[in-house]
Amino acid sequence: MLLQDAIVHYKNKISDSSSTPALDAKLVLSCVLAMRVEDLYLNNKLVISPDKIDEIEKLILRRQDGEPIAYIIGKKDFWDFTLAIDENVLVPRPETEILVQAVLDMPLPLNINVLEIGTGSGAIAIALAKERKEWNITATDICQNALSTAMLNAENISADKKIKFIRSDLFANISHETKFNIIVSNPPYIDPNDHHLLALKHEPKLALISPLKGLYHLREIINKAKFFLQPGGVLLLEHGYDQKQAMHDFFLDAGYTSIKTLQDYSGLDRVTFAFIKS
Ligand code: GLN
Repeated sequence: MLLQDAIVHYKNKISDSSSTPALDAKLVLSCVLAMRVEDLYLNNKLVISPDKIDEIEKLILRRQDGEPIAYIIGKKDFWDFTLAIDENVLVPRPETEILVQAVLDMPLPLNINVLEIGTGSGAIAIALAKERKEWNITATDICQNALSTAMLNAENISADKKIKFIRSDLFANISHETKFNIIVSNPPYIDPNDHHLLALKHEPKLALISPLKGLYHLREIINKAKFFLQPGGVLLLEHGYDQKQAMHDFFLDAGYTSIKTLQDYSGLDRVTFAFIKS
């Protein structure tokens, strides 16, 4: 099969299972043919060998089954870098860049301590480490396999020397010695009964689902973070589109101040942050 025909053929095969079939087909082809996506068209007339076709077919079948393209090709772009992705970590979403930008927009001194709870692939911590070389960043995850992926990503993106990785269930293994200027998290926040979970069957449940209608981890983090924040410190959380009111209530009950919610690219409430009184 010619490469130019393969692009069309595989795009059509996954058009029912993917919202971006042309891109996904090209990503699979570029992965198997070890070619950059931009170079596929330059090699239009390349004849794809039968063994490569076999490999491509297997990956296309996984996409037809609804597996996210990031797991199939093992990577995902986030911020201005590419992360290695595997079944232990959530695929980083574009909305999470709102959370990163919100942290970067905070008026802060040069040298600060930052804690990320539940780093997964390392997306948030690595983006912050890249943007703010002076920051002292700690990142946790409950899952050792996720931490291994995050560490690999930090090493690949040369952010490893700046990020300290700790295995921890929320704050359980965080020392009280250092207080943080910023705590940030994109914790699990999906209601166990949410029908969206069907579409997320390939992603780790541990990273997605939270009891109490998806609010348990958010509430725990809000209640515990205040003991790890410096006076004037800020907690920033990603949350579900319908969880803004609960977030404001939790923050108020826990004694935080200046609570603010930001919207994502679709105009949905997605990030709420609040300060500890100084
Ligand atoms: N934003 C993700 C989704 O809805 C969920 C991420 C999370 O639970 N932290 O697919």
